[in-house]
Amino acid sequence: MSILTALDLFTVGVGPSSSHTVGPMRAARRFVRELVEARQLDSTARIRVSLFGSLGATGVGHGTTNAIIAGLEGAAPETCDPESVITAMERAVMTGVVTVGGRTIPFSESDIELRPMTRLPQHSNAMKYDALDSVGNELFSRTYFSVGGGFVEADDEIGQPAPLTDTTLPYPFDNGDELIELCDSTGMSIADMAHANAVAIYGVEVVDARLTDIWSAMSSCIEAGLQHEGTLPGSLNVTRRAAGLARHLQSQEEAEEPGSLSNEWLQAFAIAVNEENAAGMRVVTAPTNGAAGIIPAVGYFAVRFKKVPRERIARDYLLTAGAIGTLYKRNASISGAEAGCQGEVGSACSMAAAGLAAVLGGTPRQIENAAEIAMEHNLGLTCDPVGGLVQMPCIERNAIAAGTAVASVRLALAGDGSHKISLDTVIETMRQTGLDMSNKYKETSTGGLAVNVVEC
Ligand code: SF4
Repeated sequence: MSILTALDLFTVGVGPSSSHTVGPMRAARRFVRELVEARQLDSTARIRVSLFGSLGATGVGHGTTNAIIAGLEGAAPETCDPESVITAMERAVMTGVVTVGGRTIPFSESDIELRPMTRLPQHSNAMKYDALDSVGNELFSRTYFSVGGGFVEADDEIGQPAPLTDTTLPYPFDNGDELIELCDSTGMSIADMAHANAVAIYGVEVVDARLTDIWSAMSSCIEAGLQHEGTLPGSLNVTRRAAGLARHLQSQEEAEEPGSLSNEWLQAFAIAVNEENAAGMRVVTAPTNGAAGIIPAVGYFAVRFKKVPRERIARDYLLTAGAIGTLYKRNASISGAEAGCQGEVGSACSMAAAGLAAVLGGTPRQIENAAEIAMEHNLGLTCDPVGGLVQMPCIERNAIAAGTAVASVRLALAGDGSHKISLDTVIETMRQTGLDMSNKYKETSTGGLAVNVVEC
């Protein structure tokens, strides 16, 4: 993996899953690029894809097959038309072809094979792409791993150190303690250091434009989710709730004290995003899609009920949250398939708490404390999506975690920043808990709610 900056934890993409939709789409695009570079596309008569482990178990519910077809046909998560991605597999099966790099290649449903019982040793989210010639001989083959948050690594990259080291950054830090020491020694805020690090990689115009775009996409997603009604895709027939909640809150607000329904609105904001995500619409991976509602909801809450200027949310809030997110990505995991839901929703909750503490005037130690409290009470959270869909428990879980983030900030800002359990300790605990967690609770839908809820 290349250098990780606060900015890299947020990408505009599509739902419903960063590891099962966004990552596979990127992997499919990358396979086509490498196939062309290997000069094998012209001889390719068929492309076969095998999805292993968690991707095989919950890939259909998570839109993986659609994402792969869309990626093979050149779609990118940032720019694709979500409506077109949702129907990609159906279209390919109906027409019997996929268009890859300008070539029309025969396709049938069996060309994507689900192998949930085979887990490759490197990672649970593995996919193998094979290009075959007209008599079925293998021309070119690549295995990729979707390692969480939409990041993809090939088999010769996974587990390898970054090609560049963080020493190329002006403010390198590997853990929470180093981050706080840097704040002490420079007198800078976490957001300012995260900004300087991102600028060192991407340049100031790109960084500032991306921050604005990310917050704009997050806000738009909330606003869209508060409008859209109907039933979410998939076998569960889950009814969207955010729009109804918003109407109810608006009518109640007239009889209540201003701001007295802020917690209820916070939950509605998170549910709005996660319903958009479950519907396969445009969302920001933050740091994953399953947990995409928490950071936007808490930021929107801060604008609306804490009167934090949007510009501060689009800069200090996102950068602080992103800086904390890099610690999870680097030292534990943000992948439900690796660490369970504590890696997804727990990390997002901790990131949101850090960002909110920052824009409410917290010191670096109070920010670190808020992030620590938020993760501490998500430890052990399992991933068990019913029907392999990112709906139950995911949508409500984001609403609850948004509340946990805000409560963590209240506790942290009530103190002076000193606390017994460090953020680094809780991150390491999350990592170890993830290792100990049964595979049933790591995005395989073979345990927990996923097997105890009867689908009807
Ligand atoms: S239960 Fe958590 S980790 Fe699993 S899919 Fe839902 S949000 Fe993601």
